[in-house]
Amino acid sequence: MKILSVNAGSSSLKFQMYEMPEEKVLISGVFEKIGMAESFYTIKINGEKVKKMALLDNHTDAVKILIEELLSNNVITSLDEIKGVGHRVVHGGSKYSSSIIINEDVIDTIESLSSLAPLHNPANLMGIRAFMKELPSAISVAVFDTAFHQTMPEESFIYALPYEWYTKNGIRRYGFHGISHDYLTETLKKELDNDKPNLITCHLGNGASISAIKDGVCFDTSLGFSPNSGLMMGTRSGDIDCAIIPYIMKEENLSLNEVMNILNKKSGYLGVSGISNDSRDIEAAADQGNERAKLSQVLFVNRIVEYIAKYYVKLGHVDAICFAGGIGENSMATREAVMNKLAALGVKIDNDANNVRGEFKLISASDSKIPVYIIPTDEEVMIARDTYNFI
Ligand code: ADP
Repeated sequence: MKILSVNAGSSSLKFQMYEMPEEKVLISGVFEKIGMAESFYTIKINGEKVKKMALLDNHTDAVKILIEELLSNNVITSLDEIKGVGHRVVHGGSKYSSSIIINEDVIDTIESLSSLAPLHNPANLMGIRAFMKELPSAISVAVFDTAFHQTMPEESFIYALPYEWYTKNGIRRYGFHGISHDYLTETLKKELDNDKPNLITCHLGNGASISAIKDGVCFDTSLGFSPNSGLMMGTRSGDIDCAIIPYIMKEENLSLNEVMNILNKKSGYLGVSGISNDSRDIEAAADQGNERAKLSQVLFVNRIVEYIAKYYVKLGHVDAICFAGGIGENSMATREAVMNKLAALGVKIDNDANNVRGEFKLISASDSKIPVYIIPTDEEVMIARDTYNFI
């Protein structure tokens, strides 16, 4: 059975088509610069990557071209072979604790949650509408980035703010990257042959978050009300003292929007180093002795260590820790620095095993008190699995 896994952004649309339940990727690709001049797309099929220019005024144009490509490449012979389309949706609020088949009510709810994710939910909806229009017979499923975190108890998701801000305004920790943390948790359950493990899952990419998994479900997570809290990230500050905001507005004569933009887009690795948001550039500059690059790397590592330490204490015991995401999967230096700073928890690195990129691997020493893994995350397959399960 053929299932599409879709991630729609405001000007992009990523897709993978799977043969399910084998989870075989048949074709994948991305449409970029939708609604702009010079829009284009890339597709990957049979190990070959092709880039083509195409006029993409909107997401529906992208879906039409995708269908043409599926037919001309003989991935499908007719549209009704596509039984389901799974969509990544960033915010499901407190309403959705699992994936759901999309109908008009669900669309209205996702729309009403746009105030919580103004950059993401409207873009996700553009993708949903385009596919529903072009593939009306396929079942559409929404897979939420917040859903996995809905098992958090109140003690994890309530902020120390007036309680009415939660009941009246919905201010609470929601968490994000849930599809990835779910994948990491499922993978470790199988690996450890334990249905209810306690885990610490680290998703370290341009956006980064850590989750504490208790008895196999999410207990706490570092992203909160918005996708800018917890860890330091590529361009995001993570946790800061909120008094900084009015202070710097006054000192530098900045508007609230300008400050929020700086906290989201010009902070983190980029802000501290002044060089780049990309950890590869930071590592290269640090190797050449750049002090601010070194400092940014130390801050990034320290924040990760702080969250792991705090979750370790909250969980009581931890069956495994894992690293995922572009940095978690690829940066040996970051993993090494984090693991060395976790010596107090009895974590010990196996340096030879750690000398690897993008592979599922146990990288802790045999006498480490907690096993530590690299797990290449796979959000697309989680979306395809949930969609397939509905069908
Ligand atoms: P996102 O999906 O949040 O945009 P990714 O998970 O793709 O981000 O991660 C991007 C980050 O991964 C970047 O900081 C990039 O530098 C880092 N990364 C990718 N490959 C490597 C590598 N070989 N070494 C160090 N960092 C890497």
